[in-house]
Amino acid sequence: MIVLSGGTGTPKLLQGLRKLIPDEEITVIVNTAEDIIVSGNLVSPDVDTVLYLFSGQLDDAKWWGIRNDTFHTHNALKKRGINEKLMIGDTDRATHIMRSELMRKGASLTQATAHISTTLGIRATVLPMCDEKVDTIITTPQGKMHFQDFWVGARGEHDVLDVKITGLEKANITKEVVEALASEDHVIIGPSNPITSIGPILALKGMRKLLSGKNVIAVSPIIGDAPVSGPAGKLMRAQGYPVSSKGVAECYRDILDTIIIDERDNADEKEFPVRAVKCDTMMTSVEKSEALARRAVELFKEL
Ligand code: GDP
Repeated sequence: MIVLSGGTGTPKLLQGLRKLIPDEEITVIVNTAEDIIVSGNLVSPDVDTVLYLFSGQLDDAKWWGIRNDTFHTHNALKKRGINEKLMIGDTDRATHIMRSELMRKGASLTQATAHISTTLGIRATVLPMCDEKVDTIITTPQGKMHFQDFWVGARGEHDVLDVKITGLEKANITKEVVEALASEDHVIIGPSNPITSIGPILALKGMRKLLSGKNVIAVSPIIGDAPVSGPAGKLMRAQGYPVSSKGVAECYRDILDTIIIDERDNADEKEFPVRAVKCDTMMTSVEKSEALARRAVELFKEL
C-alpha cells in the first residue's frame, strides 16, 4: 500500500492502517515543502512525524515531536536571545542533526531518511517526495512568507491571497518513489491539506501521470465546509477551490477513483465527479483510525 502524507491527518490514518497491514508493506510518500532549517539543521516536519509514528515515539497528542521530549536546548537558546521558529525537542533535534550531518557528507534526503529509519527500527518505507529543496510560500496582505512563518509564526491568522510551491521546476520524483509506484497499484491520499501537504507531492513533474494508472482512494480532510483542523480552508479558498469535500475531490479529480467523506457531511454523493462513500472519518481514537483504514482497504476490493 502506498500512502501520500502530510504531517497530521494522514499520520492519524496510518496509525490505524498499520493495525491491518504489516509495516513492511506500507510505503509513505511524504510532503517536504514545509521543510526548514532551524539552528543549522534541516527539519522535515512531515517526514519526522511519519518516522516517529512508525518508531512508536510520536507525541500523538500534538501530532508532532517525540512523546515526553525535553526542550532544554530550545529554552537555553531562547535565554540567549535566539528564538527558534519551531519548538524543537532535544531528542527530536537529534534526528535533525543526524539528517543534516548525513546530508553534509553527501547523502540525499531520501538516503538520510532511510538511514534514520533503519536506526529507529522502522520497517515501513518512508520516502520524502523529492530530494531537492521545495518551499511553500504564502502571499498575504502583509507580504510573502514561508509556510512556517505563516502557520507557526503568525498562527495562520493572516488572510491568504495565494500559495506558491517554489523550486518545483528543479525538483524530480526520486528513483525510490518511481520504483515504489511501479510495484504497487493501491494508493491512498490521506486526509491531509490538499494545497500544502498533498498539493506539492502532486505538483512534482510526472506525478499525476504516474498516479493516473493506479487505484487511488482519498479521504477528505474537510467535513461540511471546514477542515477538522489547520488552515486548509483558507488555503483552498485562496486557490479557487470550494472549501468542501467536493472541493477536495476537484483537487484530485484526474487521478481519483473514490473519495471517502464524513457521514456528517451533507454533500450528496451523486454530485461528486468520482465515487463518493460516506463513513465516520473523525479519527479521535486508534480504534476509529483503524475502522476508517479498514473501510479504505475494503473499498479497493470494490474497484
Ligand atoms: P500538516 O502537515 O500538519 O499540515 O498536516 P496534514 O496536511 O497531514 O493534515 C492536516 C489536515 O488533516 C487538516 O486539513 C485536517 O482537516 C485533517 N485532519 C486532521 N484530523 C483529521 C481527522 O480525524 N479526520 C479527517 N477526515 N481529517 C483530519
